[in-house]
Amino acid sequence: MTTGDLWQSLRKAFPLFTSLLAAGGSGCAVCGNRCEPGRQGALGCLCKRCFRSIPWIARVYCPVCGRPEQCPDCARRTRTAFVANRSAVRYDSTIREWLALYKYRGHEALEPLLGELLTAAYRGLAAERFREAGPRPVHAVIPVPVSEARLLERGFNQAERLAARLGEAEGIPLFDALRRTRHSAKQSAKTRGARLRDTRNLFKADEAELARMLETAGRDGRCRFVLVDDIYTTGSTANACAQALAEGIGQAAPGLRFDVYVLTVARS
Ligand SMILES: [Zn+2]
Ligand SMILES: [Zn+2]
Repeated sequence: MTTGDLWQSLRKAFPLFTSLLAAGGSGCAVCGNRCEPGRQGALGCLCKRCFRSIPWIARVYCPVCGRPEQCPDCARRTRTAFVANRSAVRYDSTIREWLALYKYRGHEALEPLLGELLTAAYRGLAAERFREAGPRPVHAVIPVPVSEARLLERGFNQAERLAARLGEAEGIPLFDALRRTRHSAKQSAKTRGARLRDTRNLFKADEAELARMLETAGRDGRCRFVLVDDIYTTGSTANACAQALAEGIGQAAPGLRFDVYVLTVARS
């Protein structure tokens, strides 16, 4: 079933709900209520209540994963292949619902909004880490890939869509430089140990795309690459991606100095 088909059948089953969702331009992108005039950008398409419900991460506690409270996962990880993750918001019930509407119910009106949250996370990271980095602090954004099976079922890779929005907003090129080597069951349903085992060698670099990325990145100074995903949970997916990327770069451009950062909409 395509996203469009799914939407059609939802529309038949829940006409009021879907018409509220589809209101888009005139009403709140989430609930369809009247929007507050004056707010700029995609966040301007939210009503006052939905806007106030955004659980922003105002202060980071763990410098590695960006969690707003103490974090056992980073302390336990033996090797972290990325410098830091930053997320815009906490993964609370509001954000869980927004991401589910977007990912599983084809509610595309939420995409600009989620893209803007990701861009807010990027701006926070840039202010924190890239102040001295010159006009082009980041050389590429790279989406965390989904498996073919998930792509068929959902019709799109949410990480790629959101990475494209970030790239457009900040003028950073996007490269689909990672591939998933196999399908793995849903991460959220697994224990920590199972996640770690499952993500080993789950990703590999796409040689041709990586070569294109490295060509535009150049060789002067230190390169910075940003991995993008929608949710950060234990960091095992992000870490496996960063490792695969580092291995790919190590083979394609030995001696290149680079850092990998991770940006996600929500920190669970
Ligand atoms: Zn609303
Ligand atoms: Zn942490």
